[in-house]
Amino acid sequence: MSEEVIRTNFIRQIIDNDLSTGKYKSPSEVHTRFPPEPNGYLHIGHAKSICLNFGIAQDYQGQCNLRFDDTNPCKEEQEFVSAIKADVEWLGFQWHAECYASDYFQRFYDKAILLIKKGLAYVDDSSAEELRAMRGTLTEPGQNSPYRERSIEENLDLLERMKKGEFPDGSKILRAKIDMASPNMNLRDPALYRIRHVEHHQTGTDWCIYPMYDFAHALGDAFEGITHSICTLEFEDHRPLYDWCIDNCEIEKKPHQYEFSRLSLQYAITSKRKLTQLVTSGTVTGWDDPRMPTISGLRRRGCPPEALHLFCERIGVTKSENSIEMEQLEQCMRDILDDKAERRMAVLDPILVTLTNFDEHLDLELPNHPKNEALGKRITPFSQTLYIDQADFVLSTEDKKFKRLILGDYVRLRGAYIIKATDYKADADGNIIEVIAEIVPDTLGKNAEGIKARGVIHWVSAKDAVDAQVNCYERLFTVPHPDREEGEIFDYVNPNSLIIKNAKVEPVLKDAPLEIAYQFEREGYFARDRKEDSLVFNRVVTLKDSFGK
Ligand code: ATP
Ligand code: MG
Repeated sequence: MSEEVIRTNFIRQIIDNDLSTGKYKSPSEVHTRFPPEPNGYLHIGHAKSICLNFGIAQDYQGQCNLRFDDTNPCKEEQEFVSAIKADVEWLGFQWHAECYASDYFQRFYDKAILLIKKGLAYVDDSSAEELRAMRGTLTEPGQNSPYRERSIEENLDLLERMKKGEFPDGSKILRAKIDMASPNMNLRDPALYRIRHVEHHQTGTDWCIYPMYDFAHALGDAFEGITHSICTLEFEDHRPLYDWCIDNCEIEKKPHQYEFSRLSLQYAITSKRKLTQLVTSGTVTGWDDPRMPTISGLRRRGCPPEALHLFCERIGVTKSENSIEMEQLEQCMRDILDDKAERRMAVLDPILVTLTNFDEHLDLELPNHPKNEALGKRITPFSQTLYIDQADFVLSTEDKKFKRLILGDYVRLRGAYIIKATDYKADADGNIIEVIAEIVPDTLGKNAEGIKARGVIHWVSAKDAVDAQVNCYERLFTVPHPDREEGEIFDYVNPNSLIIKNAKVEPVLKDAPLEIAYQFEREGYFARDRKEDSLVFNRVVTLKDSFGK
């Protein structure tokens, strides 16, 4: 990694403290979990949580579970489960156990019975509207439900009949008996179970009552022996309920919940619900569209997992609200790729160059990396006709900083000769279609006295070049916070978020491996697309930050 990584944050400090006070005897007792709901693909915000939870387990040599929070029955979850596992693995992490909240449905139910027996839970027949009316507000206490004092026997009987399917959806819930006057709304007799006659992708039709998130989450942590249950700040107000569940369900080893602030990334969206809208509306081609801030989208674009690790280290873990600039993520990609990406030449907007004093064919051996010899060399053919980029040739310019080819002047072709542009051809509309040039003899890999090349440009041999489609991605949105603007996120989708180029690339690129980024000299980092049969490269990131310039 390109920098000294400081792996500390307030959660690690809590763990260190727990170890020094003897709360946990050995670092290997540290047990975390990552608990996604399988209702979409993971996004960059999840990467932050994954790096935190799995990173802690790795560093303390403890364990991290992958727990699917599937308390919400829904059919099409298998695709999401598989995608989530693939993403976590791609990030380089291995879970200790693959768990499903649904594995614990019977155990949750048993704990619900325990709570009833302790007089701490009751079945409520109120309608949703009545429940809302009794809940109170932030400034006013709620009211006790008329069903709150039901006998233990009646509650046990009703819960069992709820489970057997005797009652329709919404007709009853099981509630914790806590405090309707609590200033924390989450403690005003929250629901523990609701009736839903819906098939579940893991448990089929076994259950028609499903546990609520807070209850299931706390108990799931407890059953798995989680020590540090790390979640995002919106659950801070739920912690008293989390603790209530743990304290009253006779749990031996108590897990503790800690909260950190969510990642919010500018020009992107980190909400599965809104990402789902982009997919279902066809705004993007799928969850793994390279413009998506999903882990699978970033991967398909060619972002290496190390760049996401570096990003998560750099943004850190705190409790303060944040909005991270996209530039930070892009810079992490550059920092990782500069060291490890092999160099290639690709001409995105080709224009032909014909050399008048050269008709040989050379196989040039070019280094794959300017600073790392260990990356080896490759053969790049050089011949009489070449392609260069249209933007690299002008007839004349006053711009002293123009370090490319000007009619009548010299430029160095990367790894090859110095050439001089002597003439050009234009079409009927005056567009330049061909540059006529000559090589300066004896300048292959060396300078010639008295001749000064303005700069170095990239090229490919016209007859050897391979055609490739190059997808240049720009930001998906035109504003930093599309979800905070008026109207819908669709109103802020960048119409130019994909610019397709028909490029000419070096012949070796036809065997490029998938999703491994190259630096196309002077253009940026590009990686071959996994899904396309033909040769397609996606732009991972530009060489420099050019946004808004
Ligand atoms: P979304 O709002 O996108 O649906 P979620 O929180 O409902 O997100 P889950 O699948 O429940 O998604 O999240 C799994 C874990 O990832 C949770 O612990 C959650 O706190 C964490 N997480 C989700 N989004 C972010 C984010 N933007 N930054 C950091 N962690 C996140
Ligand atoms: Mg959620």
